[in-house]
Amino acid sequence: MRQLMWFRSDLRVQDNTALTAAMQAGPTIAVFLLSPGQWQAHDDAPCKVDFWLRNLAMLQRELKKLNVPLLVRHARRWPDTAGVIAALCHEHDIGSVQVNAEYGANEVRRDEDVTASLDALGISFHSHLDQVLLQPGSILTRSGKFFQVFSQFRKVCYQRLNTAPPTSVGLPSAQTPPGIASDPIPDSVAGFDEADAALQALWPAGEHEAAERLERFATERLDDYNRDRDMPAKPGTSQISAYLAAGVLSPRQCLHAALRSNRGEFETGSPGAVTWINELLWREFYKHILVGYPQVSRHKAFRSATEALPWRHNPQELAAWQQGRTGFPLIDAAMRQLLATGWMHNRLRMVVAMFLTKNLLIDWREGERFFMQHLIDGDLAANNGGWQWSASTGTDAVPWFRLFNPLTQSRRFDPDGRFIRYWLPELAELDNRSIHEPASAGDLFGIADYPPPIVDLAESRQRALNAFRNLSSIDVPSS
Ligand code: FAD
Repeated sequence: MRQLMWFRSDLRVQDNTALTAAMQAGPTIAVFLLSPGQWQAHDDAPCKVDFWLRNLAMLQRELKKLNVPLLVRHARRWPDTAGVIAALCHEHDIGSVQVNAEYGANEVRRDEDVTASLDALGISFHSHLDQVLLQPGSILTRSGKFFQVFSQFRKVCYQRLNTAPPTSVGLPSAQTPPGIASDPIPDSVAGFDEADAALQALWPAGEHEAAERLERFATERLDDYNRDRDMPAKPGTSQISAYLAAGVLSPRQCLHAALRSNRGEFETGSPGAVTWINELLWREFYKHILVGYPQVSRHKAFRSATEALPWRHNPQELAAWQQGRTGFPLIDAAMRQLLATGWMHNRLRMVVAMFLTKNLLIDWREGERFFMQHLIDGDLAANNGGWQWSASTGTDAVPWFRLFNPLTQSRRFDPDGRFIRYWLPELAELDNRSIHEPASAGDLFGIADYPPPIVDLAESRQRALNAFRNLSSIDVPSS
C-alpha cells in the first residue's frame, strides 16, 4: 500500500521515525506543505522560514538517494490542510499517511482534522514519537499529573532513560523509484523575505552540516560546557537549536552524541556532558508542559494569578528594547546579536527577558512575540517556557523577588566587555569598567551616539517587586 510521508518539523532522512516506518510499510512519496498564513499567525521569523526552505532543498537531495520524491503543496492556513492532504492521497492512491507528532495546540487540532477526514476515506494516519525523547504523558507524578517542577521531572526522565534509552532508527534503505517527479522547492515564500547571505552563512542548511556541528561540539567543547556556557563571548554552547527546532537533527542524535563522549553516563562522568544533557531535558520538559497545560500554547500565563499584573503599555521603551537602544550595553548587544544572526545566547535571553518584564514591567507576551519574529530557532514550547520562566509567570519559574541586575550580569558574564565591544562598536574604546555602564564614563570617550539608560535600575526593581507583592496569590493550574 502506498505511503505518504508528510514532513513538518523533521527535515531529515537520518533517524526519522515516521520516514522509516513509511518506507518499511510500502512505496513512499513525501510532501511538505507551504502555509504562509499560518506561519504569519504563529509569528514565524523570515530567517526561520528561509532556513526551512534551504533545508527542504537539502532534504530533497537526500530523499532522491532513497528514490523518494518530495512534493510541495500549498495550504495557506492549517484549516485548509485536511482538504489538501486528502486530495493528494486521492491523486496518488495513498493508503496511509505517516507523520512525526507535533505538540502545540494548533498542530494537534490540525492533525485531528486530517485524521478525521482521512478516516472517512478509509486512509490511515500514523503519528510517531520523534520530536522528543519520551512520550508526553508518560512522565507523570505519582498521582498521574504532569510535572510542574523540572528537577522532579528530570529524575523520572533519568530513570526511564537509564532503563530504556531511546534507540535511533538510522537511515532507511532506498526503494524502487515510484516514477513520480519531485516538485521544485521555492527560494522564498511571499510575506517572508529571504535571509541575507551573512545570516545564511552562519546557519548552513542540511543534516550533514548539522551532524558535523554536533560532532564538533561533542568532541571539542562538551567537556567544558559547564564552565563556558554562560559566557556569551565564547562559543561555549552547541548552537544546534535551529537544527533541532527544524528537525534537521533529532534529540536522540544529540543524546547519543553526549553519551558517546561520556562513556554512556547520564548523571555522572564529565560535568560538561551532564550539564548539556540537562539542557536537552529542559527542552523535553517544556514540550511536555505544552501537552499537559495546553493553555500555554494560547499565550496564557501558567500561573493565572499573574494575569493581574499591571503590565505597562510603553511603546517607546518597548521599541528601545527591540532595537537595542536601552542604554544598557549588555542588553543592547544581545538584542543586536538577535537582529543580526537570528540567535541569542541563552544567558542573554534570560537577561533581556527579565529586563523587559521586570525593569520595564512590559508584558512577557510582547517579548515572546518579538523573539519568535526574529529567532531562527523559534520554538513555541522553549520560547514560551523561557519567557514565562523569566517573567516569573511560568512553571518552575525564577522566583519573582530574584531579579537579575543587568550591570552585575554584564560584569560577571562579559568581564572584559568582549561581547559588548563586538556588537556595539561605538563603545569599543571604553575601558573594562565603563564598558558595562557608559553613563559612568561621562562623555570622555566621545560616545555621544549611545543613549543614556532608559530606566533607573533601583526604582524599576522596586516597581516590579511591588507589582508582584500586590498579587493576591500566585496559584498554579491543575493538569
Ligand atoms: P545549548 O546550550 O548547546 O543546548 C543544547 C540544546 O538544548 C539547545 O539547542 C536547545 O534545543 C536545548 N535547550 C537548551 N537550553 C534550553 C532551555 N532553557 N529551554 C529549552 N531548551 C533548551 N530555545 C529554542 O530552541 N527556541 C526558542 O525559541 C527559545 N526561546 C527562548 C526564550 C527565552 C526567553 C529563553 C530564556 C530561552 C529560550 N530558549 C529557546 C532556550 C535556549 O536559550 C536556547 O535553546 C539556546 O540558547 C540555544 O543555543 P544552543 O543550541 O547553543 O544551546
